[in-house]
Amino acid sequence: MVNNKYRFILRHSVSNDTMHKKLSKREFIKYSAMGALGTAFCVNPASGLAKPLINHALTGSPSMSKDFELWKWSKESMYYVKSMRGMECMLCPQYCILKKGETGDCKDKMHIEDGLYNIAYGNPCAIHIDPIEKKPLFHFLPESRAYSIATAGCNLTCINCQNWNISQKSPRETRNYDLMPSKVVAEALGNNCQSIAYTYSEPIAFFEYTYDTAKQAKEAGVKNVMVSAGYINEEPLRDLCQHIDAANIDLKSFSNQLYIDMSNATLEPVLNTLKVMKEEGVWLEITNLIVPEWTDDMGMIREMCEWLVDNGLDECPLHFSRFQPMYKLKKLHPTPVGTLTQAHEIALKAGIKFVYLGNVFGIDAENTYCPGCGKLLIKRKGYKILKNIINNGHCPGCNRTIPGVWKS
Ligand code: SF4
Repeated sequence: MVNNKYRFILRHSVSNDTMHKKLSKREFIKYSAMGALGTAFCVNPASGLAKPLINHALTGSPSMSKDFELWKWSKESMYYVKSMRGMECMLCPQYCILKKGETGDCKDKMHIEDGLYNIAYGNPCAIHIDPIEKKPLFHFLPESRAYSIATAGCNLTCINCQNWNISQKSPRETRNYDLMPSKVVAEALGNNCQSIAYTYSEPIAFFEYTYDTAKQAKEAGVKNVMVSAGYINEEPLRDLCQHIDAANIDLKSFSNQLYIDMSNATLEPVLNTLKVMKEEGVWLEITNLIVPEWTDDMGMIREMCEWLVDNGLDECPLHFSRFQPMYKLKKLHPTPVGTLTQAHEIALKAGIKFVYLGNVFGIDAENTYCPGCGKLLIKRKGYKILKNIINNGHCPGCNRTIPGVWKS
């Protein structure tokens, strides 16, 4: 069900002046610092350890919502059914059933009056301009800028979440900007960003906002990229893919039990997302965070790589990412570099063509080599590109096609 109905909701009777009051210098500094903190701990582990390119302040008038419990707009959900039991959300495999006043597991969907609404719509709590390499997307418009947004909320509850301070919160608990889709697109264009990234928390949780913004961005010639856990049902995913150019999907492990224990999710829908995105022509890269004592079983990693190869995903870059002690797993140590290099070898042996190590800077495994002749094609240092000799999507050494989106 696709529906474009908006609903204006005022939680408190405040005047428009109060709602859209410009921030004082003191407030602005305070919330800029909060924003920087949010980005410093991104959900996608490989993107978590560096400062954003720009800790972005909106051009024109910065108009954060004044009231923590107020959201300017909510939008009717695109995928739900009404039943005797309540509003049944069909967006993701959590299939929440909500009685009036209840919010879903993601904290972004709410049963209001006679419908299901996304209360995160137009209310991002994090906005930054990042290098595209930070997502990480290594084969998609290298060195370009991504206008990156996130709202509070997530449909998973990962115990190692690197951005739990926004992903595990409701939009009613975060300090939000008022930023409707058209304004996001205008800001991206005004800041010379070639793409808009739906990232940091979970774009599936703020699906309606992601969808509308991506649609408008595409019409304006701006690309759309999403960084996601990929926990979504097939129909909404296929609809969203019509507007998404690239994605980095977290494949957290290759064990259903680990998905249940670590994230309150299951493995199969994520595998389906990878297959569907590939089918729909979205440029796809995959991140696997190796958490010591949890997801560092090399047999499981081998099985995961073999599955990717068997399902035609061997040319999708695979990023193994280093875990840092975080959230509910603070007592663990960071992933040993030896574990990461072992995984790297296993993936290459299984037939994955482009394997990278993330959150370990200054190593060879952040560079791109031609799988045909072994030539060094892109040399990186952190998120910087030191050299890129890919020629029209081909290796200049052996002319092999190097998959990716190299030109806008
Ligand atoms: S999107 Fe949110 S409300 Fe809907 S099923 Fe998933 S977790 Fe539940």
